[in-house]
Amino acid sequence: MNRPQSVEKMTQIIKKLPGIGPKMAERISYHILKMPQSEVNRLIDSINSGRQKMKYCRICFNLNESDPCPICSDNTREKNILCVVETPQDLIAVSKVKEYNGLYFVLGGALSPLDAIGPDDIKISQLIERLKNDKIGEVIIATDTDSKGETTALYLAQTIKPLGIKVSRLGYGLPVGGDIEYADEITISRAIAGRKEM
Ligand SMILES: [Zn+2]
Repeated sequence: MNRPQSVEKMTQIIKKLPGIGPKMAERISYHILKMPQSEVNRLIDSINSGRQKMKYCRICFNLNESDPCPICSDNTREKNILCVVETPQDLIAVSKVKEYNGLYFVLGGALSPLDAIGPDDIKISQLIERLKNDKIGEVIIATDTDSKGETTALYLAQTIKPLGIKVSRLGYGLPVGGDIEYADEITISRAIAGRKEM
């Protein structure tokens, strides 16, 4: 017997979420069907309201409820140092490090020749534009330590250094192949302190 059409439809949509395979999508669908209607409504409302309220900051491309985001609006921050990350989740991870009080830029991904993701598919031109306009003296590249993150870091260093801006890469302590998002505060703090000029 095939899955009922309604379950099939739910499963097909849930399967598109990151990290969810067909089996897990089916399991989630049946789980939702067992949930009380009020819980289902809360789930749908939280997704809808999150989607409507969250917007990209026009300065750093962080996702937040306000634009400019609280970090870009914070006048106590050092304005001449910029930490470049891949995703808003990475920004949150780095922002827990109290020793870093500079600004941020979210690329919205990483270069990946195998997936045909090139410089025009992430926010590299916007980053260069900002570096030129905002008198940034140092860029700390905090992309992931996997091959996409490393490719992106090298490309950025080659593109930014000719502008006369110091470029450094997070140093010691981060596991190779790791995702900044999942690194703990102490590790990121040490990696910033031990950053190496590229
Ligand atoms: Zn911002």
